[in-house]
Amino acid sequence: MRTPRPARRHRQRECGADPRGRRGTGADIGSLSTFVTDMRLMTASGETLDLDAKRTPGLFQAARVSLGALGIVTETTLAARPLYKLKRRTWVAPVEEMLEAAPELWAKYRNFEFYYTPYSGMTIGIVNDETDEPETPEPVNEDDDGLRQLQQLQDWLGWAPSARRWVIQTIFGGIEPETRIDYSHKTLSSERNVRFNEMEYHLPREAGPQALREIIAAIEDNNVEVFFPIEFRTTAPDDIWLSPFYGRESCSIAVHRFHEEDYTPYFSLIEPIFRKHDGRPHWGKLNTLKAADFAGLYPKWRDFLEVRAELDPEGRFLNPYLRDILQSG
Ligand SMILES: Cc1cc2nc3c(=O)[nH]c(=O)nc-3n(C[C@H](O)[C@H](O)[C@H](O)COP(=O)(O)OP(=O)(O)OC[C@H]3O[C@@H](n4cnc5c(N)ncnc54)[C@H](O)[C@@H]3O)c2cc1C
Repeated sequence: MRTPRPARRHRQRECGADPRGRRGTGADIGSLSTFVTDMRLMTASGETLDLDAKRTPGLFQAARVSLGALGIVTETTLAARPLYKLKRRTWVAPVEEMLEAAPELWAKYRNFEFYYTPYSGMTIGIVNDETDEPETPEPVNEDDDGLRQLQQLQDWLGWAPSARRWVIQTIFGGIEPETRIDYSHKTLSSERNVRFNEMEYHLPREAGPQALREIIAAIEDNNVEVFFPIEFRTTAPDDIWLSPFYGRESCSIAVHRFHEEDYTPYFSLIEPIFRKHDGRPHWGKLNTLKAADFAGLYPKWRDFLEVRAELDPEGRFLNPYLRDILQSG
């Protein structure tokens, strides 16, 4: 079975219950919020509420992803499991080949994701499955070096996309498939030392491949100066009211821009494509949606607003952004 089994409970004190619905990748794996089994919430009046799916189903599903707008989560129980190992395979493939294989890959492997490098026509695919095989030696972290090289290529060859494409394809042609075995926290995490701004949307899974084709065409037809690879990942559906994965199998597509560059032209070119495919934005990343947009995307939006108004009638937990989207809808 690919879904992690809740084998052990881990009590976490004075910590949010993943209020924004973070996730990794895996067609059968939910966001971190789905692993929250119960929590303690302190509301604006100072009252303490103990919430779980059985005793307080509505409040619990409202609070598991609540953006800090319902109160302070002071205790959380997370479903955890013993340490386990993963076998990771990484390979390079043309983007169309990867997109056609994607449904089979996300069905077959525990984790599947891929990255498209703009102006290359090529992707890097990553799959993981559980294993008991011995660990392989730890590789040096080449992620940041790779990004810096792509940035240099943009600086040198940005004026000549076909030359850049040729250079990147030549580099990609020399990358051999790689297999690594290690404990999950080592194979699944990566260092991100290059600062960036990011927009990520979660789309109905079947719409993902076509949306990505449109994004690539928009970037390359408009000659957008961007070197950051575009990420494609998957997440299982859940029943958490404000989870971007509420009620649907999802895939996520993320675009990044170097922090010193103005992200507005790039993100405003891509966001309409996400919107066209019914995407819901990642709560921790950039988007331009308004209250009415969220109301149309989330079937339980109104229910959440009612719970919020009841628990915090004076809006003590609302900052300007939350006031804008949660009080004018
Ligand atoms: C390098 C990098 C990599 C990332 N990778 C991923 C990824 O792989 N997948 C992914 O999904 N996201 C990823 N993200 C985005 C990530 O989801 C957000 O940065 C994250 O949600 C921020 O949470 P925080 O607790 O650090 O921030 P905060 O801004 O402190 O908290 C986030 C929200 O939770 C609320 N909150 C905090 N504590 C409490 C509490 N005790 N009770 C109630 N509410 C509370 C806050 O009000 C706020 O709305 C990445 C971000 C970075 C910078």
